[in-house]
Amino acid sequence: MDYFHYQDDQLFCEEVALEQIAQAVGTPFYCYSERTLLHHLQVFQQAFASQDSLICYSVKANSNLAVLDALAKQGAGFDIVSGGELERVRRVGCPGERVVFSGVGKSRAEIQAALAYGVRMFNVESIPELQRIQEVALAMDVAAPVTLRINPDVDPKTHPYISTGLKRNKFGIPFGEAVAVYQQAAQMSHVQVVGLDCHIGSQLTQLSPFVDALKRVMVLIQALKGHGIEIKNLDLGGGLGIPYEDGDTPPSPAELAAALLEQLDGMPVTVILEPGRAIVGNAGVLVTRVEYVKKGEQRHFVITDAGMNDLLRPAIYNAYHGVIPLQRKFDREEQVVDVVGPICETGDFFARDRYLSEVYQGELLAVRSAGAYGFVMSSNYNTRPRVAEVLVRGDRYAVVRKRESVAQLLENESLFEDA
Ligand SMILES: *Cc1c(COP(=O)(O)O)cnc(C)c1O
Repeated sequence: MDYFHYQDDQLFCEEVALEQIAQAVGTPFYCYSERTLLHHLQVFQQAFASQDSLICYSVKANSNLAVLDALAKQGAGFDIVSGGELERVRRVGCPGERVVFSGVGKSRAEIQAALAYGVRMFNVESIPELQRIQEVALAMDVAAPVTLRINPDVDPKTHPYISTGLKRNKFGIPFGEAVAVYQQAAQMSHVQVVGLDCHIGSQLTQLSPFVDALKRVMVLIQALKGHGIEIKNLDLGGGLGIPYEDGDTPPSPAELAAALLEQLDGMPVTVILEPGRAIVGNAGVLVTRVEYVKKGEQRHFVITDAGMNDLLRPAIYNAYHGVIPLQRKFDREEQVVDVVGPICETGDFFARDRYLSEVYQGELLAVRSAGAYGFVMSSNYNTRPRVAEVLVRGDRYAVVRKRESVAQLLENESLFEDA
């Protein structure tokens, strides 16, 4: 569900024609629909409303301040994975009780900053991390609220690079060691066990892995009770998939909630969810201009001014993204093309062997479903300034991140000089 649509054969984001933004801002740029992302947040909030719950948007999916601000104002909490992301949630004024801190490699400085901010909990992934949190909390003379991220060893049936809940993955504490590690945590003077966490992967398109993980986790919660350890916050992570291709039918947040809440059966815990992609994925497009159409011997290439440095997902996950024209024309023939960027890499493509209606130099295209893991994964490879980000709100839009300049890219560099 999103608010991108054609009106008189012009592609609109809400009530703004994307062409109008392209004229004003230049290309490429990311465009986000505020109404879409708020709608998705609300769907999650309502789906879990019958249970004490908190939806903590996963900041890493799209961390633009204007996106975070819109979500915070509608009551979202945030799942962060770095000190940088903590600073972002601070900037949008999100109270600590709505912030959870995940990630396998938290530094001392990050732990200190998160304790000072008063985050709701640290999702802890190893014994050494637990020990470090204890040390930092002791030095600051505060109690650190922790959950243990349990690896339930279930197969999320998604791309291997975004699977995290299998034994062989680096994430979480092995299921079999969980009770012992909880007991260790409970002994620590400045650590307070407040819950349990579990995140098994991303772009999950079936309910069964979520349900299987929860079933395993609930057995553990009962076992912990027997040891006098009470789980108040049950964080079930993110990972709900979105439709990238026509015909994809991932479960809805409502279906996910129904399945999880049925399992929970009224268990008195605060359920936390950390959706990222499901909130912003289909709330964003990447708008790009066709630089050249190159007719090869075997196939035609549509060469765009955006490249893999701007949207990396096709290159690293072989991900599918829809590509559609900003101006729909019905008199054009369909042809099979590769839509590729200007970068010197064969992996620099947005679509391969794709049926598109014929496009010409100078025309504009939208790469769909680019709101999550799009701009945030972009780089300056090939010394390309990162593109602008635009947020649409109804019939208005704002540039919420300016296009970088080459001068900015070079600012921190210098020739060799003796220190
Ligand atoms: C990446 C991540 C998420 C968000 O995943 P989505 O697939 O975008 O919903 C949530 N929690 C943790 C711990 C993550 O690493």
